[in-house]
Amino acid sequence: MRQRLSSEPDRYRGRRRVPTPPRSRYAAVVTTAFFGAGIVALGAGAMPDAKSVSPSVLDELKAASTVNQDAAARADSADRASRDSTRAAGAEDAAEREACRLPLQDYEFNTPYGMRWGKLHTGIDLVAAEGTPYVAIHSGTVTKAGWFGGYGYTVIVQHADGSEAIYGHSSALSVQQGQQVKAGDQLGLVGNTGHSYGSHLHLEVHVKGEPLDPVPWLQERNVDIKLQIEAL
Ligand SMILES: [Zn+2]
Repeated sequence: MRQRLSSEPDRYRGRRRVPTPPRSRYAAVVTTAFFGAGIVALGAGAMPDAKSVSPSVLDELKAASTVNQDAAARADSADRASRDSTRAAGAEDAAEREACRLPLQDYEFNTPYGMRWGKLHTGIDLVAAEGTPYVAIHSGTVTKAGWFGGYGYTVIVQHADGSEAIYGHSSALSVQQGQQVKAGDQLGLVGNTGHSYGSHLHLEVHVKGEPLDPVPWLQERNVDIKLQIEAL
C-alpha cells in the first residue's frame, strides 16, 4: 500500500509533462499553413512563414512527445512493479491468514471429538509431555489467556472469520489477552491443569459459537492432525 501511494506522485509528475503549449502551437501552425496556402497571392510577407516555424515546433513536439513517452513508460513500469509487489504482498497476507498448522509436532492423538462416557467430548486430545510448547493452529486474536474452569489454564484464539480455537489444560501460558498471533506462534506449554487425566493438549474449534470436530476443519485447511496416529 505504501509503495502504491509513493508511485502515484511519480506517475502524476510524468503525466504533467504533457506539453500543452506546443500542442496548441501545432494547431496554430497547421491552421496558418492551410490558411496561408489559400492567401499566398496576397503576399508571403503578410503571413508567418509556415516552413520556418514548423520544423522547430515539430522538433519540439517530437522531443516533448519522446520525453512524455519515456516518462509514461517509466511511470507505467514503476506502477506495474508496485502493483505486482502489492499483489504479491496481498497474496502473502491472504496465505498467512489462511494457513493452518499442527499445534504440536510430536504427540499421540488420544481421544477424538465425539461421545465419551455418555458426554460429548467437544475437542480432541493430543498427548504430549508436560512442558512441551504448543503453537497456534491459525492466526487471530487471543481473547482469553488464563484459568477457564475444567479446561484449566487455557488460551482462546479468535480467527478472522469469527471461528475460535481453544487450547486447554496448559501448564503455562505464553500469551496475553488481546495479543495478535500467527499460525505457529507459541501459545503455552502442555500440561495437566483443570479437569484432566494426564498431560495433554485439549483442542477445540468453535464455529458460530458451537464446537465441531477439529479434524475435518483442519483437513479442509490442509492439516491432517490424525496422520500422526497412522505414523505411530
Ligand atoms: Zn479433551
